[in-house]
Amino acid sequence: MNQTPDSIPLRLVQDLQQAKYITALTGAGISAESGVPTFREAQTGLWARYDPQQLATPQAFRRNPRLVWEWYAWRRELVSQAKPNPGHLALAEMERLVPHFTLITQNVDDLHIRAGNQNIIALHGDILKTRCFNCRMLVDSYQQSSQIPPHCPHCGGLLRPDVVWFGESLPPKALDAALAAARDCDLFLSIGTSTLVEPAASLPFIALQNNTPVVEINPEETPLSNAATYILRGASGQVLSNLVRSVWK
Ligand code: NAD
Ligand code: ZN
Repeated sequence: MNQTPDSIPLRLVQDLQQAKYITALTGAGISAESGVPTFREAQTGLWARYDPQQLATPQAFRRNPRLVWEWYAWRRELVSQAKPNPGHLALAEMERLVPHFTLITQNVDDLHIRAGNQNIIALHGDILKTRCFNCRMLVDSYQQSSQIPPHCPHCGGLLRPDVVWFGESLPPKALDAALAAARDCDLFLSIGTSTLVEPAASLPFIALQNNTPVVEINPEETPLSNAATYILRGASGQVLSNLVRSVWK
C-alpha cells in the first residue's frame, strides 16, 4: 500500500515530514469554503451581471469609481462576516509544526491572519485597507459622507481599496520575498489558485525548476496540474486537515 487512509501518498507524507522549509501559495479557493466567492465562480445576487475581472482594474475605477467602490464595499462586508475555515486553520497549524513555514497569499481577505499565521507575504494587498487613487497614501480614516467613493483627507483624490488590480504591479518587496521563498524551499504547496494570474502563477514553476516537489491542492485542473509532483484533488478545507493529521499527528 502506498497511500495513507486519507489517500495521501506515503512519499508525500515523508517529504513533508523531512522538509525544513515549506512554502505555501494560496488563492481565492482557500477562502471559498468561508463564503468568500472566487473570481471565477458564477456570482449570485446583486452583482451577478458584473464580471469581477472587469471591475478589478484601474480603467474600471476611472470609468465608474462609484460602481467599483460599491462592489468592494460589498466584498468587504462578505470578508468581515466570514470566518477562517479548516483549510486556513490547518495552514496556521503547519506554521507551528514546520521549522520554517512561509505563506504567500494572493488573497486580499484577512482570514489567514485571523487563523493565526504570522509569516505571511500578501502579494495582492488588503481589501480592508484604503488608499488614495491620486496620492497613493494609505488612509486610516475618512469622512463618511454621501460622496461615493469618499475623498482623500490629504489631497482630495478618490479613495480606493488597497488591493492590486489587474494591470497594476505588485509591491516589489512582497514579490521579491515570494520569489525567494519559492526558490529556497524544500517543498511547495499550491492551494486553491487557478495558476493563471501572473506573476504568482510562476512561483510553483520556480520551485519545480529547482527540483523541489510541488503539491497542487484544488478540486479542478489548472495549468500546473501536468507539472505538479503530487495532486490532491478536493476542497482545501478537507484536504489540508487530512494532510496535517496524516503527517504530524
Ligand atoms: P481564482 O478565482 O482565479 O481561482 C480560484 C481557484 O480555486 C480555482 O482554481 C478553483 O478551482 C479553486 N477552488 C474553488 N473552490 C475551492 C476549494 N474549496 N478548495 C480549493 N480550491 C478551490 O483565484 P486566484 O487564483 O486566487 O486568482 C484570482 C485573483 O482574485 C487573485 O488576484 C486574488 O487577489 C483575487 N481574489 C481574492 C479573493 C480573496 O481574497 N478571498 C477572492 C476572489 C478573488
Ligand atoms: Zn490623496
